[in-house]
Amino acid sequence: MASATGDAKKTGAPGGVALRLVRAAARVIVDYALPPRCPGCGTVVGEDRQFCLACWSSLDFPGDPCCASCSLPLPSAMPGERIQCGACLADPPPFDGAPAAVAYGPVARTVALRLKYGRRTGHARLMARLMARQLAALGPAELMLLVPVPLHRWRLWSRGFNQAGLVADELARLTGAPRDHHLLRRVKATAPLRGKGRRERERVVAGAFALAADARVRAAGRHLVLIDDVHASGATLRAAARALRRSGAARVSSLTWARVVPDAITGNEIDIASLDSDMDQRMTG
Ligand SMILES: [Zn+2]
Ligand SMILES: [Zn+2]
Repeated sequence: MASATGDAKKTGAPGGVALRLVRAAARVIVDYALPPRCPGCGTVVGEDRQFCLACWSSLDFPGDPCCASCSLPLPSAMPGERIQCGACLADPPPFDGAPAAVAYGPVARTVALRLKYGRRTGHARLMARLMARQLAALGPAELMLLVPVPLHRWRLWSRGFNQAGLVADELARLTGAPRDHHLLRRVKATAPLRGKGRRERERVVAGAFALAADARVRAAGRHLVLIDDVHASGATLRAAARALRRSGAARVSSLTWARVVPDAITGNEIDIASLDSDMDQRMTG
């Protein structure tokens, strides 16, 4: 059932664990001694885990009207109308709803990267706080099971933690929705996605995920919600959701911190293949 400790505990050699503990202790001391800073730009702010006004106002919160399948904002649709975007009509995704707290942009990216490379658990808390509203809109928490998108074990060993797992832990703490770190496994170490378009990314991550042996029992009657930091091409989420569907769960959806959204003003599609290498490392994780 739900793990209380996340993926971090089962990783690394004893020496690595000791080093991480020392680093974590040092971070606590540093966090205590230094004034709170904006997670977006580093400016000193009044309260911990609060954005400065400039970063806060630069955040774009996607909302209604949006695609019923992938939650892509559809500004030209009528509010409350249940419609699908062109991409979902052409190729229906394996999830019912994939909202994100914010649209992907410089501040959202910084927060995600600081969590990923700096293990800033405070950032996971901040992300979860802004994701909680979207989670509530997906349905009742007691029917849910939060499932962080897993890393392959090699990646987990080298990084020491799964950023999606940290966010799922914080969401569970905030909303009371149970989570399960081990329902889904990453069985294939995927090649880097850098420079690859949507179709090729789908091909690379196909078959990357598998269910735990007793997944059917754990997922029975549940609404499974995949948790991840960034929704870029959606290839990883689709592959993970496809695996979760095989568990016989009542429903599968996903929730992310930031969603790459085509530019609504210019109408330009964001070129997924051009996303920078940091993002690329995240996506292959
Ligand atoms: Zn700021
Ligand atoms: Zn859609």
